[in-house]
Amino acid sequence: LFDALDDQPLDAMLTLLRQLRSDPRDGKIDLGIGVYGDEKGRTPVMQAVRQAERIVAEAQTTKAYVAAEGDARFVSLLAPIVLGAARAADDRYCGMQTPGGTGALRLAAELIARANPDARIWVGTPSWVNHYGLMRSAGLTVLEHPFFDQATQTILFDEMMSALETARTGDVLLLHACCHNPTGAGFTTDQWRAIADLCARKGLLPLVDIAYQGLGHGLEEDAANMRALLDIVPEALITASCSKNFGLYRERLGALWIRGSHAQAALRARATCMKVGRSMWSMPPDHGASVVRTILESPELTASWQAELTTMRARLNAMRAELARAVPQLASVAQQTGMFALLPLSREAVTELRVRDGIYMIENGRMNIAGLTSENLPRFAAALAPSLSK
Ligand code: PMP
Repeated sequence: LFDALDDQPLDAMLTLLRQLRSDPRDGKIDLGIGVYGDEKGRTPVMQAVRQAERIVAEAQTTKAYVAAEGDARFVSLLAPIVLGAARAADDRYCGMQTPGGTGALRLAAELIARANPDARIWVGTPSWVNHYGLMRSAGLTVLEHPFFDQATQTILFDEMMSALETARTGDVLLLHACCHNPTGAGFTTDQWRAIADLCARKGLLPLVDIAYQGLGHGLEEDAANMRALLDIVPEALITASCSKNFGLYRERLGALWIRGSHAQAALRARATCMKVGRSMWSMPPDHGASVVRTILESPELTASWQAELTTMRARLNAMRAELARAVPQLASVAQQTGMFALLPLSREAVTELRVRDGIYMIENGRMNIAGLTSENLPRFAAALAPSLSK
């Protein structure tokens, strides 16, 4: 049976990881996989998470199933952080826990496919590589619109808006709320407003992916443009991830909110999602949700989480500023936000940096800013500068 299957190309990220691990040189620089690293290159368990895990381990009396929608208390505690207090209290918003942001995106795609089988989804080029596969897995047609010019490091806003003028009513527009992966580039507030107006005017459904809240300018700041858009459009989907801002990657924690034009519609959409979720993973994993619920129920743990998140964000922004200072051609990196930058490098230059200098990044030129430290940054900048001018 399995002989009939096609060979699958090795995942680019896994290949890179293998190359990195088998490279015996000292001083290798890992700018590949998208996890936060501290000044020592470690991805630590956050203090608040560590403490909440102890509390959960002590207090938990059963491992019996929770529910198809996951931990409702976790969802209701996360809602004001993501949506803001007013929307969290608005019954046109309905949320559920999902296995990571990925689970939320897949569920959103399945919901769209069921609600409107003709819907197409517009994704800006480039986007997180998994966005395409996730949407296509649900049977959606993916249409790409221009978003970012790698050579000039600019957002192609006019090109994007003209492409979207050709969208059909009922089409979906995928947006990154903040800290765009892979470019780090973000729309201005005026551009968000224009996008919201376009969605409202043309009847497009925004699907807003918020996977790095708190790693750009702050928890509130990173959600502000998305929230303003939500106040303009009648319907929307919001997919959140706790992988990065709680450092819970492997625990697989996220959430999906449906904003309906009225409460009944949002409830009905969530019921559909629960049914779909039942047939994919039955119920989301509980550990991460118990931990985040425990943090958000405690003012002390919440303060500790926010303080550590602030430190992470400050480190990312400091590395951005330092890189921009060391490599003047990359001045835009200091204006961008989040964990990634898409450097204006050819594939050959990326290979050369790996082979010659032991610097690892994805072949399209995406680098993880969190892989930089004050120690390795000068060497990275020196190796990089000649490649940029090639
Ligand atoms: N959206 C974006 C833009 C991402 O970069 C990621 C993770 N790389 C996710 C969603 C999903 O993250 P997770 O499933 O690990 O929560």
